[in-house]
Amino acid sequence: MSSIVSPDDINPLEDHDRFMIVRNWSDVPPKATHLAIAKPIASLAPLRDFPQLRHLRIFGGDALLCTLVPLPELCSLRLSAVPSKGLTSLEPLSNVVNLERLILHHLPQVKSLEPLGALRKLKDLLIEISPCSVTTLHELNSLQPLAGLRTLERLELRGIRVRELGLRPLEQMTWLRHLVVNNRFEIEDFARLAAALPTTQGFCLHPSVPVGIPCDQCQHEKVMLIGRTRPTIACPQCQAKHVERHVARFQQCKAAYPNAAGP
Ligand SMILES: [Zn+2]
Repeated sequence: MSSIVSPDDINPLEDHDRFMIVRNWSDVPPKATHLAIAKPIASLAPLRDFPQLRHLRIFGGDALLCTLVPLPELCSLRLSAVPSKGLTSLEPLSNVVNLERLILHHLPQVKSLEPLGALRKLKDLLIEISPCSVTTLHELNSLQPLAGLRTLERLELRGIRVRELGLRPLEQMTWLRHLVVNNRFEIEDFARLAAALPTTQGFCLHPSVPVGIPCDQCQHEKVMLIGRTRPTIACPQCQAKHVERHVARFQQCKAAYPNAAGP
């Protein structure tokens, strides 16, 4: 059972200190590799002058992002909208085709993932909603554009829901090594995924996952049941029948999927 990976795992802590916040372009050393950009910077065009730039964080809206220039060396980008409703399109990301790692942090107005289809070197993708907005899920049109990302190794979708096709497009992504999907889809969605992705790791590919909280009654570690649209935490000992019923249903759904025999 793989553990639940936090955003900090995908975005190592040691990196935090290395980012220089750009206030004036004239202060930025020509060999800068890690830059963070927010107000009052109005254009990303000067990034052309930093050919060694590898890691970039942008806090901004459509007006700033649409000034993004092609950056051949850039391999990691974290994008946060400021204000949270200020970013509606990922289209400018088609300029950064060498990206290997992309974090989309709290972009609730972005609906289409189509532009990500151009990122043919992407290995890690994290789409997350701000932790203070967990009750409002980020609605995406479809996950279909992700299904062509053959280099993707790790995909984390936290705080999302999907308008069309649910999790079905992910079933094609048998090359994924690690997958996280927030537990707000149906049991059939997760069970089918578990059948389709037999070599992928991730808590959402199991009927239940330990949550590290002891039961008040028996001290047994509680579990979260995967595929309850209202997430349920239960004690596998005190609520054994409830948990067993859920696990049986998950396995039944998984077995009913054509790929269930799998490798
Ligand atoms: Zn108990």
